[in-house]
Amino acid sequence: MVTISLPGMPADFFEPISDHKTPPTYLYFDGTSWKPGESGKTVPVASPIDGSVVGNLPVVTPKEIDAVMAAATSSQPAWEATPLYKRVSVMHLAADWIRQFEEYLTNVMIREIGKSAGEAKSEIVRTADLIDYFADEAEALRGETIDSDNFPGYEKGKIAIVERVAHGVVLAIAPFNYPVNLSASKIAPALLMGNSVVVKPPTMGGISGLHLVRIFEKAGVPKGVITAVTGTGDVIGDYVVRHDAVSMVAFTGSSDTGLAIAGKAPMKPLLFECGGNNPVVVMPDADMGVTAHEIIKGGFAYSGQRCTGIKYVLTTKAIREQLVEMMLKLMPEMVKAGDPRSPDTKLVGPVISESAARHIEEVIEASVKNGATIVMGGKRTGAMIEPTILTGVLPTMPVIAKETFGPVVSFVDVNSFDEAVTIINNSSYGLQASVFTKDEGTGIVFAGKLHVGTVQINGSPQRGPDHFPFLGVKHSGTGVQGVRYSLEAMSRIRPIVLNKPQ
Ligand code: NAP
Repeated sequence: MVTISLPGMPADFFEPISDHKTPPTYLYFDGTSWKPGESGKTVPVASPIDGSVVGNLPVVTPKEIDAVMAAATSSQPAWEATPLYKRVSVMHLAADWIRQFEEYLTNVMIREIGKSAGEAKSEIVRTADLIDYFADEAEALRGETIDSDNFPGYEKGKIAIVERVAHGVVLAIAPFNYPVNLSASKIAPALLMGNSVVVKPPTMGGISGLHLVRIFEKAGVPKGVITAVTGTGDVIGDYVVRHDAVSMVAFTGSSDTGLAIAGKAPMKPLLFECGGNNPVVVMPDADMGVTAHEIIKGGFAYSGQRCTGIKYVLTTKAIREQLVEMMLKLMPEMVKAGDPRSPDTKLVGPVISESAARHIEEVIEASVKNGATIVMGGKRTGAMIEPTILTGVLPTMPVIAKETFGPVVSFVDVNSFDEAVTIINNSSYGLQASVFTKDEGTGIVFAGKLHVGTVQINGSPQRGPDHFPFLGVKHSGTGVQGVRYSLEAMSRIRPIVLNKPQ
C-alpha cells in the first residue's frame, strides 16, 4: 500500500495507480480510469540495487491502445480550445504537487532505477521548476502577421496571420535514466500547446513515470487528454508508434531504438533525443585541475548512464599523462562506488541491470584484447561496474564507437587537434562535445569545426539549464528541445492569408 504522510495531502493521492499487493501491480491509465489490463500479462520492474521486484506493469493489448488513442483524439479539440491561462494554471499545480511529493518520488526513483538520493531529488526538483518555466514561457509565445509587399512583385493587399496550433495527439516516450524529467519535458509543452498526450513510460522507470501521469491527472488535465500505456517497447512499441491517431512522436532513448522507430511514423513530426558518445578535447593550455574534475563528474555521474556523459577524451600523449595522473589523484575524493542509498556513495552505483553491466564488461574486455590498457577499474560484480579509466583506446573500438552506458572513460591519443576534429566528425553520434582551453577564442573557433549538437567550453556536456537549446545531430537525434524550442516543436504554425479588398 502506498502510504502518504505529508501534511495536508489526501492519503489516496497515488492510491488508484496500483493494486497494493506486494509487490504491487501498477495500472495503466486510459484517460479516465486506472486499469489492470485485460491480457493479465505483466512485466516486472526489478531494482538495480538488489534485484527485488519493485512492482509489475501491465502489458496493454492493441485493443486497449486503440481505446486510449480514441480517448486522446476525441478529448484534444476541447483541450486546445481551453484558454491558455487555464492550461497554464494546471501546469503550475502539477509542479506544486511534484514539490509536495519530492521525498516520496525521490524514494520511488532511488529504488526503481538506482539513482542516488541527491541525483533523484535533483531530478524531481528540476522537473517542477521546468514545468513552471514551460508554463510561463507558453504565455509569452506570440504569433505574427506578415505583409505581402515585402516580397518583390507583390503589392500591399495580402496579410498572413500566423498562429500556433497543436499537432493533435503527441506520443511521449521517455528513457529509464530520467523517467520523470524526460517525461515531463514532453508532457508539459505538449499539453500547453493544446495537444493530448499518450505517455509510453520506460519499463525500468515506469513506476516513477506513472506517478507523474497521476500528478498531471490530479492537477486537472481533463479526461482523455493524458493517458499512459505500459508494456515493454519491443512488445507494444510498434503498435503505438505506427498508430494512425498519433500526430507527433517525442522520443528520448538510444540511437538504436530511435533509428528503429523513426521510419514507423512517416510524414509525422519527430522530436528525437538519442544517444551520444560525447568527446572531450583537451588543449595544451587547459587548466588540468578543472579539466580532470569535469571529466570525472561528466564521466561517472549516475554511473555514466547519462546521454551527455563523457565517454572519451582526445588529447596528445603528453597531456593525457598529466591528466590521468590528476584524475587518479581526484578520484578517491570524488567517486565512491556503492549502494546508491548510502550517503557515502559518490557518483557510481549499480547500472540499470545485471545484463547491462555484463554488456559493459564485455566491451571493456574487447577493448583490452585489442590493445587498450585499464588504468583503473574494469571489473564487474552483479550490476556494479567499477569506475573505469582506459587508455590506448582507438575510435573504432566498440567502447566508444557505440555508446557505452556505464562508468567508463576512455582516452584516445591524437597527434594533432585536426585529428581530433576528424575523429569526432566521423562518429555516428553528434550530441555534445567539450573543449578545455584557457583561450576562449580558440575554444570558440574549435567548437565551430565540430559536427555535434552543442559544444561546451571548459565544462562537461550537459542538458541544463533546461531553457538552453538541446539537440543531437546524426544518430543523436532530430529536432530541438529546450523550453521555448520544445513549445515550438510541440506545435505547428497555421497561416491564414487575408486578401484585403483593394
Ligand atoms: P531505449 O532502450 O532506447 O528505450 C527508450 C524508450 O523507448 C523506453 O521507453 C523503451 O521502452 C522505448 N522503446 C524501446 N523499444 C521501442 C519500440 N520498438 N517502439 C517504441 N518504444 C520503444 O533507451 P534506454 O535504455 O531506456 O535509455 C538510455 C538511452 O537513452 C541512452 O542511449 C541515452 O543516451 C539515451 N538518452 C538520450 C537523451 C538525450 O536527450 N539525447 C537523454 C537521456 C537518455 P521499454 O523500456 O519498455 O523498452
